Amino acid sequence: MCIRRLLHPSSLHWAWRTTVLKGTWRRQQGTHCWKRSGGSTYRAVIFDMGGVLIPSPGTVAAGWEVQNHIPSGTILKALTKDGENGPWMRFMRGEMTTEGFLEEFERLCSEIAKTSVPVDSFFSLLTSEQVAKQFPVMTQAISQIRAKGLQTAVLSNNFCLSNGKSFLPLDRKQFDVVVESCLEGVCKPDPGIYQLCLERLGLQPSESIFLDDLGSNLKAAASLGIHTIKQVEDPETAVKELESLLGFPLHVGVPNTHPVRKSMEIPKDALEKYLKDLLGTGATGPLELLQFDHGQSNPTYFIRLADHQLVLRKKPPGALLPSAHAIEREFRIMKALGNAGVPVPTVLDLCEDSSIIGTPFYLMEYCPGIIYKDPSLPGLEPSWRQAVYTAMNQVLCKIHSVDLQAVGLDNYGKQGDYFPRQVRTWTKQYRAAETSTIPAMERLIQWLPLHLPQQQRTTVVHGDFRLDNLLFHPEKAEVLAVLDWELSTLGDPFADVAYSCLAHYLPSSFPMLRGFRDQDVTKLGIPTAEEYFRMYCLNMGIPPIENWNFYMAFSFFRVAAILQGVYKRSLTGQASSAMAKESGKLTWFMSDLAWDFAVKEGFHVFKEMPATKPLIRSLHTRAGPQSFLNPTGVRSYSSAAEASYEAKGGLIISPEGLSPRVRELYDRLRHFMEQHVYPVEPELQRHQTSVERWSPSPLIEDLKEKAKAEGLWNLFLPLETDPEKKYGAGLTNLEYAHLCEVMGMSLYASEVFNCSAPDTGNMELLVRYGTEEQKACWLVPLLEGKIRSCFAMTEPQVASSDASNIEASITEEGGSYVLNGHKWWISGILDPRCKLCVFMGKTDPQGPRHRQQSILLVPMDTPGIKVIRPLTVYGLDDAPGGHGEVRFEHVHVPKENIVLGPGHGFEIAQGRLGPGRIHHCMRLIGYSERALALMKTRVKSRVAFGKPLVEHGTILADIAQSRVDIDQARLLVLKAAHLMDVAGNKAAALEIAMIKMVAPSMAYRVIDRAIQAFGAAGLSSDYPLAHFFAWARALRFADGPDEVHQQTVAKIELKTPARLQESAAPRL
Ligand SMILES: Cc1cc2nc3c(=O)[nH]c(=O)nc-3n(C[C@H](O)[C@H](O)[C@H](O)COP(=O)(O)OP(=O)(O)OC[C@H]3O[C@@H](n4cnc5c(N)ncnc54)[C@H](O)[C@@H]3O)c2cc1C
Repeated sequence: MCIRRLLHPSSLHWAWRTTVLKGTWRRQQGTHCWKRSGGSTYRAVIFDMGGVLIPSPGTVAAGWEVQNHIPSGTILKALTKDGENGPWMRFMRGEMTTEGFLEEFERLCSEIAKTSVPVDSFFSLLTSEQVAKQFPVMTQAISQIRAKGLQTAVLSNNFCLSNGKSFLPLDRKQFDVVVESCLEGVCKPDPGIYQLCLERLGLQPSESIFLDDLGSNLKAAASLGIHTIKQVEDPETAVKELESLLGFPLHVGVPNTHPVRKSMEIPKDALEKYLKDLLGTGATGPLELLQFDHGQSNPTYFIRLADHQLVLRKKPPGALLPSAHAIEREFRIMKALGNAGVPVPTVLDLCEDSSIIGTPFYLMEYCPGIIYKDPSLPGLEPSWRQAVYTAMNQVLCKIHSVDLQAVGLDNYGKQGDYFPRQVRTWTKQYRAAETSTIPAMERLIQWLPLHLPQQQRTTVVHGDFRLDNLLFHPEKAEVLAVLDWELSTLGDPFADVAYSCLAHYLPSSFPMLRGFRDQDVTKLGIPTAEEYFRMYCLNMGIPPIENWNFYMAFSFFRVAAILQGVYKRSLTGQASSAMAKESGKLTWFMSDLAWDFAVKEGFHVFKEMPATKPLIRSLHTRAGPQSFLNPTGVRSYSSAAEASYEAKGGLIISPEGLSPRVRELYDRLRHFMEQHVYPVEPELQRHQTSVERWSPSPLIEDLKEKAKAEGLWNLFLPLETDPEKKYGAGLTNLEYAHLCEVMGMSLYASEVFNCSAPDTGNMELLVRYGTEEQKACWLVPLLEGKIRSCFAMTEPQVASSDASNIEASITEEGGSYVLNGHKWWISGILDPRCKLCVFMGKTDPQGPRHRQQSILLVPMDTPGIKVIRPLTVYGLDDAPGGHGEVRFEHVHVPKENIVLGPGHGFEIAQGRLGPGRIHHCMRLIGYSERALALMKTRVKSRVAFGKPLVEHGTILADIAQSRVDIDQARLLVLKAAHLMDVAGNKAAALEIAMIKMVAPSMAYRVIDRAIQAFGAAGLSSDYPLAHFFAWARALRFADGPDEVHQQTVAKIELKTPARLQESAAPRL
């Protein structure tokens, strides 16, 4: 299976096959007989010739009569005239010469037809090579019968030709016994000729099966006790009947082939002639030609000619790039490797003469065997699976051990610099097919050249080394042939090793390259990727390498680039299947996988790569004198240094560094807050403490409409999740962080801009993982702000800091899932607008720890959801959304409501949290800035002990400390957002955990100082401080308690090499 096949849409539906023959028949050990359970035993099959192995004279005559305007049926009548005394039967018994027969026969035919009949012409046709050819299905059946140890015979009523030879256009080697009427002087249905045949076979009549097309011949055989099959229509039907009598397959189709497509036809006659010259005169008979399903790049055909089974591979027609479709190279490498003992198909000939079939081609022997298409090897024993992968590994070592010079391959490719060239090539290919910016691809394009490994060895590199490019022995784990050498060259052998591990990291549902990431490889018996890699190093006798992840990253990058090519072709109409269109999404998936490996490998170079990504630091973010405070106490920035926004991708630490578009958005947002939000806060607060508080405030709904009209809507969706800006404003995490801080300055603001939790996380989840139907049903109304949602994970009975503890069950019942569980602290569930609950439960409590959970989209009006009570945070119930305790009792949800499939719950929940943590933390910074601003106003206006509070040293110290705390935290949060943008959420895991550890407690301390400076008023609802304080405290739990984040930070820190290596021993 060639990687280029991926480029062809028809290859997108791979059929998985394993040629395993099953049946109720068993071979009797030690004897050459085949027995049907409870039935007879057969030891031989006897074939008639004309009408069974080759076309019958009657059939040939019918066509000939039409063409020569002879009354239909003339020849047949003449053939049967006068029974066994007629000219035909005498001719068959060898009693007449050809000339004598033709003379008499012509007279007879002319009498019947009442016109002159040119019998010579009919006879020439009947005996011509073109007509007298054995049916391929019969050739195959005979070889299968013989392979099973049975005898074969031909029992023919035939005649002698004018050269004295009998007419038997068959390969005699196919038969143990040949009985020809013209030589024996006896014809069927004379019982003597059957007996003669049985005698020569050494069998009893009941031990053989006889096939003929004439009832009289069969009757005679049956009367002797021979089992008979009448071949009435086509030979295929007779073979099927024979197959069912014998009990083993006779018609083994050539797997993965189909009739040759019209556009791919090649001139058969010219090819046949060529083959005859090549293979010798034994190669007669009709040429059977089939096309392999694969080989779109270089069309590949199966050929059966007499007993030869071959494979022809040719260049495609039309103008080609000079280096493309180099079948000469394939021929060359297979020939050389075959000589070096590498199992490859035996190549026979390279024909560079385009006049034969229109293009150059080469021929190799067809090698039957098993191709394991599903890399998880279903249906095999674990030990067999292990053996298959071991054999795969060993054959790769064999390829990589070939002495290039000895086999004449030292100039087969460039020596050295393999990866620099490959990275350049595939980057170029990707760029040529690029349709939109894929952040992971961008990162890889920067990262790969900076992490190129030192090439240790140069060997033959297969270039597409995967399990389904290996042909295995049907009965043992032995590689019979390595196929598809189209991408082979000289290079770094580790490229092949990594590439052969792709399946380990791909899900089994992956549409193009099936994998087994979701299965327990140890249980399957398949070596893990690490074990496979170690096995390779051991077999090669080389030490393990450390930068394994580079090779994996590159392998996935290459596949991503190929998939992007498929996608581009689907857009330009060159590739039409729906799957080709899907390949666009798969590129994202592949590139993310590639980036995961890059991250594992480390992006230390990235962190130190100012040459490609200069960090922008507008370090002078100081409060300017003119607008230090405005009437609402909102902090405003001014920057002493002009921050440059042009260097895209830099860390922008103040709003001045934002691009003009985002800066303008930022300014409008601030203006909106000042115009519409801060002024109505008292009113909103009144509503929140009124009896109507469990209904949404109409004021909020008005503000939402205003914000939407001003384009201040759905600003939160990160560009990386929504690169085409289909759903959101297309801001990066870093850009949005600055805006989010502004929204954090009012507790009510984020909802006004449709940027509030938990909807933001749920919307991002739907964009990332939802199906089109799920998006249409839930994402669209959420994006429109028409409905709200909640996220249900935490459970009262278990420590939910550890999400793997959750117990809620999701079981399958008929066509739906049934949910049961007890949840609490479910924010937003009490809101009447809440229509969707994103529910996390366990579908497989026995599965691996992080694969037990699944996420379901549960409509809130589903029967069985019982909200028990609203919980309060320091007495605040947070109406109208609240935080609910809720029971799910036998809640039935359609199966299609599962997100991404069973077992992905943990992974989704993790993916959901990255940007959400930035949002929470930046809003906390907003609370803190506002608290500090309020504090500064307050301490300037109140006098105690003879002087304004602001002149008391402790107050000054508190202000200073708060400024330091806020700026430190902000820098860290912005760094995390920046890393998420440029290196991805996973790469930013440490920073995300750090900010979640830092920001809530920082805000808690800053707000606490402000409350203290306010005196008792600070605890009241007259100011937002008490509410801010409650939220900051709550956020030390929500999204995981501080300790869990501390644990993450500590674990990563302990794995990170120390900047200074120092012994722990005391200095003496
Ligand atoms: C205001 C608010 C809103 C929330 N909204 C939602 C929501 O919408 N949906 C939802 O599902 N959940 C929500 N939660 C719940 C929140 O996610 C959980 O409270 C949190 O995950 C902690 O779980 P727990 O309460 O079960 O604490 P437990 O797991 O019982 O932990 C208790 C304490 O144990 C300690 N601890 C835990 N792990 C460690 C460790 N590794 N090392 C040291 N100490 C440790 C910590 O001090 C922790 O606080 C919300 C919570 C709050 C306060």
